[in-house]
Amino acid sequence: MEKLKNYIGGELVGPISKKHLNNFNPSTGKVYSLIPDSGKDDVAQAVQAAKTAFVSWAKKTKQERFRVLMNVVKNIEDSFELLVKAESFDTGKPEWLTRSVDIPRCSENIRFFATASLHFDSKLHDMDGGAINYTLKEPIGVVGAISPWNLPLYLLTWKIAPALAAGNTVVAKPSEITPYTAFLFSEICIKSGVPPGVINIVHGLGNLVGEEIVKHNSVSVISFTGGTKTGERIAGIAAKKFKKLSLELGGKNPNIIFSDTHLEKSVDWALKSSFLNQGQICLCGSRLFVEKKIYSDFKELFVKKTKSLVLGDPKKDNSFLGAVVSKEHMENILKKISEAKKLGGIILTGGKRRILSGNLRGGYFVEPTIIEGLGYLEKTNQEEIFGPVVCLIPFNSEDDVVKMANSTVYGLSASIFTENISRAHRVAAKIKSGVVWINSWLIRDLRIPFGGMKNSGLGREGGFDSLNFFTEQKNVCLKIDSEK
Ligand code: NDP
Repeated sequence: MEKLKNYIGGELVGPISKKHLNNFNPSTGKVYSLIPDSGKDDVAQAVQAAKTAFVSWAKKTKQERFRVLMNVVKNIEDSFELLVKAESFDTGKPEWLTRSVDIPRCSENIRFFATASLHFDSKLHDMDGGAINYTLKEPIGVVGAISPWNLPLYLLTWKIAPALAAGNTVVAKPSEITPYTAFLFSEICIKSGVPPGVINIVHGLGNLVGEEIVKHNSVSVISFTGGTKTGERIAGIAAKKFKKLSLELGGKNPNIIFSDTHLEKSVDWALKSSFLNQGQICLCGSRLFVEKKIYSDFKELFVKKTKSLVLGDPKKDNSFLGAVVSKEHMENILKKISEAKKLGGIILTGGKRRILSGNLRGGYFVEPTIIEGLGYLEKTNQEEIFGPVVCLIPFNSEDDVVKMANSTVYGLSASIFTENISRAHRVAAKIKSGVVWINSWLIRDLRIPFGGMKNSGLGREGGFDSLNFFTEQKNVCLKIDSEK
């Protein structure tokens, strides 16, 4: 069986322990490769390699770093189909999705930040009385980048690209559940001439490898995307060491449908925002608030269209949904559905594991599920499920829905559907979340500040916000003598 390797100091190496973990294909439930079960010493080697490489990488000109990163882009594009298939195989998501979203975004992330670094500038503040302040933006050092399993290479490159473009070096830890494309990415980096130690990728368990990266005294910056509980733990460790920290965490996002919406269009958006990537996108709208006047019409069409979604073989173009990422995650989703039923929730469609035939028999397929009848404060409507499960909740007025939408500890994103532009603006301003879409969902411009409010995160990434995060600002004040 194939053994994946860590990428440390420019080389592919096995774990010091020589131990490995199983890597499963979620659509068959079978182990298909082995991942390094790395530990403290592997992390120490990776950090040392990154520290050494920082000295020369930080001194390179922006153009030199740009050229290296664009080589990586070229090689990702040359390996496009390989990465598309590998990402689908490793995560269980449909191939059409990795072909249209995941993999194009990897090269786009790197191209975007490589280019952005050439345009990155800083401020100058001149003072009355003859002094000028100018701000230098300097690379910081070794960045720890920890990413989740739902968009594996997409989110890994989202962190690595700006960190490198700004002149830092990186020790990254992909999720142990979906390590495969990060391994392919290591090979791509070698082929692209990335100098040894500039990027290091250490595979292994989160609470071991991830936590070791966070704790390490030579890692000065942590960029983490994952669950809120893990974020809280990381923040506790990082704060004591005064590390720069960016946290992109969970969500329980509201989707608000006013009665003046275009019914068919808003149903189609709701289908995507509820079930794309099996509902495993932090931005998925898992609470669907529908104005009472159109509730029954909306529900009828939404349930009908959900029933027609194909849940099946990730290799087939007509499968809208594939498998969820792991057995443990599937069981957790099913447990949350059963809790919802106990609370009085009515399952309008779905609610079960689907056993497919042939070699997909052991796959982790969960039916797209719609629940109604639960109050907005019930557990099901407050806690993240992160699967193909959405709750329908009727509302009477704008004030009511704003109160309900803002009732969770999260504040990542929201969508508002209305043809009334003033109402759209009014409600958008009142929603406590980092991102609001009007009459749409998941339209992403890489320049915007991206991140969450409340327990959905800390800080903003995207565009120059990322480059600012991955640099240290230093103000230099120059006094100009008025006398010769
Ligand atoms: P986790 O928090 O479990 O894991 C995220 C990453 O952290 C993984 O690489 C994991 O490794 C690692 N990790 C786990 N424990 C620790 C630790 N103690 N110290 C350091 N690293 C650790 O999240 P999931 O992978 O389950 O991802 C799903 C979550 O991510 C959801 O809550 C979702 O909303 C959120 N998310 C947020 C996004 C955003 O932009 N706001 C985007 C995408 C997802 P391993 O997997 O190997 O255990």
